Amino acid sequence: MQRHIVHIDMDAFFVSVERSRNPSLAGRPVVVGEVQGTRGVVASASYEARKHGIHSAMPVAAARKLCPRAVFLPGNYDLYLRVSRAIRRIFESWTPLVEMSSIDEASLDLTGFDRCYGPVLGTVDRILRQVRDTLDLSLSAGIATNKLVAKIAATSAKPAGLLQVLPGCEECFMAGLALSAVPGVGEVLGVRLASLGLHTVGELQLLELPLLVRVFGRAAGSWLYRMARGQGSPKVEPGRPAPKSAGHSVTFSQDTVDRRFLEGVLYHLCEKVGARLRKKALEGGTVTLRLRYSDFKTATRSCSLPEGTNCDRQIFERALELMLPLLDRRVRVRLLGVTLSRLRPAADQLDLFCLAAQQRRLGFYRSLDALRDRYGFESLRKGRALWLESFRRPPGSRPRKAG
Ligand SMILES: [Mg+2]
Repeated sequence: MQRHIVHIDMDAFFVSVERSRNPSLAGRPVVVGEVQGTRGVVASASYEARKHGIHSAMPVAAARKLCPRAVFLPGNYDLYLRVSRAIRRIFESWTPLVEMSSIDEASLDLTGFDRCYGPVLGTVDRILRQVRDTLDLSLSAGIATNKLVAKIAATSAKPAGLLQVLPGCEECFMAGLALSAVPGVGEVLGVRLASLGLHTVGELQLLELPLLVRVFGRAAGSWLYRMARGQGSPKVEPGRPAPKSAGHSVTFSQDTVDRRFLEGVLYHLCEKVGARLRKKALEGGTVTLRLRYSDFKTATRSCSLPEGTNCDRQIFERALELMLPLLDRRVRVRLLGVTLSRLRPAADQLDLFCLAAQQRRLGFYRSLDALRDRYGFESLRKGRALWLESFRRPPGSRPRKAG
């Protein structure tokens, strides 16, 4: 059976949503990003704004210089998330195989649906029209036999376009592309390819597999070889609905009032929660601390963060603020727990806020999480969890999930 993988991508999604709420923005250069302060970056720019050289992840201050008459909006993430869910529901009314790869992109598997809906090109056109008509949003789509080619086709169809790469035409379609335009070719690999004189996929197609493996290693070499020929995974994975919260708690083997020990354990719990969120590419907006005293009285304290986070240190700082006043009761503590809720996709996954400092932080956590995946969570200690080393026994019984 012929595989039909469809990639659908919203055009300038945040701007598009703002326009559907405020029609006077139509046709004008519009920029959504952090407008307060001097450090904000552009999250989404309309095509009119892009003509002035404005693009995502650029500082808002620089965008203002390029086009002072553009409309700058702070953005409403909760609204975008609600609209994203509505889009998903439309897709799911056509096929159960819908994979949202970010807030504004999805892969759909329409294989075998020709029998109910007719030829795939017409079907996708109807899906796009349904989104346009019911939600008043602009979007583009690509159809191919795998996710990679479908995604590239959608990008080349933008804005408000639809492109099908017919089966057997993948290699020819890929040949003309710049390597830097291929998803998966990051900055480092791009520079490496360019240093070898390789700038287009067509040039890469001339190289045989053994050579690519020798130069780039087995994994990257064979990926490049397959990518150049327009081969990719056709597997659309719908995934489970996102969790509502993530938490960890411990019950101590002996109740304690030792503040140093409690702070160490708290840091450890925050690290566990942070790692779990990062693994799922989520961040949380509310920190909740739960503390049970030896007399079984339980205190629960929450606070909201101005922005979502999955950073251990930020979670810890808020959790510590919540915990310290509770220790004034001078009753021993038997249980401590930290939970993050109001979860949403992490900003870095959306490529929105790529400030240098954040990039460094992301790089740090990526390495940390990879090492812990490999050698175990306890293989690395940092922050106040280091204090736990001075206590003979690890914190209480095994951490339990709290949410
Ligand atoms: Mg998009």
